[in-house]
Formats: sequence, C-alpha cells, structure tokens
Amino acid sequence: MSSPSPAKKRYRREEQGEKKRNSDSDDDNYVPYVPVRERKKHELMRLGRIAHIAENANKSSSENESDNEQSQEVLGRKYNISLLDQHTELKKLAEAKKISAVEKQLKEEEKILESVAERKALMAASELAKAIVYEDPIETSWKPPRHILAMPKFKLDEIRQKHRILVEGEEIPPPIRTFKEMKLPKSILLALVKKGIKKPTPIQVQGIPTILSGRDLIGIAFTGSGKTLVFVLPIIMFCVEQEVCLPFIRNEGPYGLVICPSRELAKQTHEIVRFFCDSLKQDGLPEVRSCLAIGGVPVTESMETIQKGVHIMVATPGRLMDMLDKKMVNLRVCRYLCMDEADRMIDMGFEEDVRTIFSYFKGQRQTLLFSATMPKKIQNFARSALVKPITINVGRAGAASMNVIQDVEYVKQEAKVVYLLECLQRTPPPVLIFAEKKQDVDAIHEYLLLKGVEAVAIHGGKDQEERSKAVEAFRSQIKDVLVATDVASKGLDFSNVQHVINYDMPDDVENYVHRIGRTGRSSTKGLATTFLNKATEQSVLLDLKHLLIEAKQKVPPFLAELCSESEQLLEVGDTQGCSYCGGLGHRITECPKLEAVQNKQASNIGRRDYLSNTAADY
Ligand code: AMP
Repeated sequence: MSSPSPAKKRYRREEQGEKKRNSDSDDDNYVPYVPVRERKKHELMRLGRIAHIAENANKSSSENESDNEQSQEVLGRKYNISLLDQHTELKKLAEAKKISAVEKQLKEEEKILESVAERKALMAASELAKAIVYEDPIETSWKPPRHILAMPKFKLDEIRQKHRILVEGEEIPPPIRTFKEMKLPKSILLALVKKGIKKPTPIQVQGIPTILSGRDLIGIAFTGSGKTLVFVLPIIMFCVEQEVCLPFIRNEGPYGLVICPSRELAKQTHEIVRFFCDSLKQDGLPEVRSCLAIGGVPVTESMETIQKGVHIMVATPGRLMDMLDKKMVNLRVCRYLCMDEADRMIDMGFEEDVRTIFSYFKGQRQTLLFSATMPKKIQNFARSALVKPITINVGRAGAASMNVIQDVEYVKQEAKVVYLLECLQRTPPPVLIFAEKKQDVDAIHEYLLLKGVEAVAIHGGKDQEERSKAVEAFRSQIKDVLVATDVASKGLDFSNVQHVINYDMPDDVENYVHRIGRTGRSSTKGLATTFLNKATEQSVLLDLKHLLIEAKQKVPPFLAELCSESEQLLEVGDTQGCSYCGGLGHRITECPKLEAVQNKQASNIGRRDYLSNTAADY
C-alpha cells in the first residue's frame, strides 16, 4: 500500500525530471498531454504543498496568519470532503483559535501579576540582614479537645462543608462548633452570652482554633460575619497565659498588635478588646491591659497604659509609626500581629508604613490578615510575611453579603439630593449615606438638617472630637442618619442599620462591598440603594453588574445592556474576573485600579480622602 506522501514525492521528481528532459532536448514547445481531471488534481496538490511550505516558513509569524494557512491546507487537501465535514473542520479550527486566545490571555495575566508581585519581603530588618527564615509556625499550649482530635477527616470536612468554609494550607486545625469546646475561660463565655452571642459564626468555627493553634492566617469573610472576635479572643487568651507565667513589667509590651485602616475601626475594635478584658477580672484572672493608638487624640492616654506594661495595642499605621519612631513604644516582645481590613490598608497607600512596622519586630510572630476582600495583590504582599499560612474563606472573597437587597437606580446628577429624601422613606432609621467627596457629605448633611432630618456627618476634614461625637450619636441611635465618606465604610459595626444609600458609586467595587456591608450584619436583613448615572465609570458599572448577578440581585436594564469587549474571557482559568482587584467585570489586563496605581507611582500624586490618610493625620 502506498501512502499519500511518497506518491507526492514521486510526482515532484517526475516533474523535475521532465523539466530537465525538456531543456536537454532543446524542444521548448513540447507540452505533454495531461487530462483536465489530472491537471485539477495536481493544481490542488500544489496549493496544498504551497500552504504547507508557507506554514513552516511562517511558524513564528502571527497566529491568525497561521490559522488561515491551516484552513487553506485543509481546503486544499480535502477538496473531496463534503461541505458539512469542511464546516465541522472549520468549526474545530475556530474553537482551537478561541482556546489559544484564552491561553494568550492567561499568559499575559501571569506576566502582569508577576510584575506587580512584591519583591521586597515583609520582614524585620534584622531578619533580612541575617537571612532568617521561619519554617515552622509558633507553638502554643492550646490543643483541641480530645474528642475533636479523634474525629475522622471526612467528619471535619463535613462540618466545613455545612458551614461553607473553604480552607487551604497544611495541617489545618479542626473546626470547632462551640465556644466551650474552644476552651475559652468561663468569664469570656459569660461575656459572649451578655453580648447575645451563643454559637460561633462559620469564620469563628474555623478561625479561632486555627489562631489558638499558633497558625498564621488569611481570613476572608463577608462583612459583619464576626471576624473581629476571631482575632480578639485568642489574643486575650495568649496575653492571660503570658501574664500568668511572667507578669508584664513597666514599659513592656505590647504582646499583641492590631492595626486598622481607620481611627473609627480601631476605636471600635479596642472597645471590644476592653469589654472582654474587663470580664476576665470577674473570673479572678490577671488584668490584661490594652491601649488605643490613633491620630487625633493625645498620646498621653496611650502612654499611661504603655508605661504600666501593655498587653494589647490597637492602632492606626500613622500614629503607630510615629510612636515607634519616637521610641515611645517598641515591638521587642510583640508576638502577635493582626491587620484588620488588610486590603484597604494597602489600597490606601499604607504599604510602606506596614513594611516599616514589620521592620521593628524582633522575633517570630503570628501574623493574621483579615478582610472581606482579599485579591491576589494582597496575597502576594502577605506571602513573605506568613509562615505556612492557612487561608479560611467563607464565601467568595469580595462577594457582597447575601443578607443585603441591592437596589441600583439611574438618578441624574442634579436630582440626587432631592431623591435622597424619597429614599429615606423606604426604611425606618438608622440609615447610612455614603458619598465620595467631603463637599458632597457636607452638602447632603446641610440639606437633611434643613429638611428636619436628625443627621450627623463625618469625613477626613473634620477633627477627631467631632468625628467621635457623630459616630457615638449615630451608634446610640440619638441620630437617625449618618452621612460619611469612605472613612465609615470599613469594618464599622453599627447595630441594626436598615438602609445604606450610596449617593454615588465608589470608584472601585470592593469599596462598594464594604459600604453595603454596614447593613445586613450577623443574620439580619438590610437594604442598599445606589445612585448611578453618566458620571459613573463604565468599568465600575461592569464590576457592579457581575456582582449583582453573583448575589442573585435584580440587574436594571441599563446595566444589563452593558457589555465589555472581553466579556467572554471573564471566566477563564481558575480566577473569576480580575486577579488584581477582584472586580468581576474585567480581567487584570483591563484593570483601571492597576492602571491608576501605576499612573500614581509614575507621577507620585497625593492620596485620596480616606480619613485624609497621611501619616501626619494619624
Ligand atoms: P464583625 O464582623 O466582627 O464586625 O461582627 C459583626 C457583628 O456580629 C458584631 O455586632 C458582633 O457582635 C456580632 N457577632 C460576632 N460574632 C457573633 C456570633 N457568633 N453570633 C452572633 N453575633 C455575632
């Protein structure tokens, strides 16, 4: 049996031979007779051969060209196959082309991610100098109860599945479903009951045992899911243990450090720490001292506690840096570091400050990063700082809470203020109104006061006393409405907020998730209304559209119609949407945030108003 390619070779040789014979014989006019059918066949074969040669020659040229050549080859060689078969063949080729576009996209994304990955390690200066690398997590004396340790793996997986807890990492401690089994002291259990907290939330089920076991952690959970207690309770337990072993002396400490991106969040977290520390005394356990280090309040308050010996410090980065710099406090014995709302901290430009803070540590520490959103850029940032970390994810990172009904409306710029009043009627108070700009916050506040609404306002331009008073009045429900910039969007816990109104759409969707997370906390339901109009960036709208789809919310027609060029590429690889900022409506190749960061780096422009976040302000 002869195969097609030798036949082709033989034909070529004949052709050459023929040419040679012709020139030899000097009879240039001699043309041998070839039947039409044969000639057609030869012509097609010749086309096939040319396509084949061209393909080899152009292998390094663009993919599109080579795809065309391939299809020519198919057509050339398979002239005798049916149109239907040719169609199938072409379809396959188109499919392959699509796959290669996906591959191309993934490759490009990988390159971008690599270029934005942190090269400078988050380590203490002494560790960097001596090339110290910690391989094993810190050991603690805490062990899970025996009956839990004896549970088979499938049973533990079942518990995680039931609570929708996703975990990643090595030797993950077991999830524990009651506070009692977590071996918390009786006084803490009583304090929890006093707060109306009976059983742990999913992030607490897995997070508290993980931290008590001494493991580094990246905790991702939707806002209002009880993240604060995950890091507050273990830190108190560790401090009690330390105090029992060797009481803290003057100017010693802190042993545990919690860093928050805003003063309000730091204050709130410190109050929770204080509440549980106070309850310990009732149990006859030693005193655990805590202090708050934030801008806008005198340093003397924190200094008093520091001088007595401080166990837990809750701080904002600017003030902490300032105190470290002036040697008012040191991190020599600090063994526990928690960064709450870590992604916000990096976004707000505190990256360098955090890096400096890390350089003050003297030994290995347990590092915990918490946030509702945790895009890859933060995970990259954290990688060098964490030792065998465990990632606990309750719900997709960056997903909005399912307890919130999200309503988005097209409202013309000039109609927004008036329409606000109508929106306020939708629910009883308390209501939170967010606006991007300080001027807008002031204008809305003034308008509401004129209309007789009991409203207060906060933004970075107001002094700390005014800010604290406004937050307190709203928290204690003396005032019905709080108008704020994003200073109030992160982590603040106001009980029972019924309605969050976004006077404008924040310029990244993560911020939107944080804002609407002020309502629908724990297991309550909430409403979020967002005003959109022509002023809103298309990329944010696309992210919002996909977020609404994910949360099974109504998508208004003007948003549904919106499509991006790369819509079909949104779910390629194992990342959904953008791996840099977490937005669902675009890929990293079109990330406006990344572009903005790069532009900012290039031009070194100042920072936006999140609490006028310059170090000096803190
Ligand atoms: P967080 O996400 O830490 O800001 O917590 C949000 C709210 O949930 C706070 O008011 C907590 O007091 C409350 N909370 C925390 N843990 C629990 C729990 N296990 N059960 C019920 N409520 C909780």
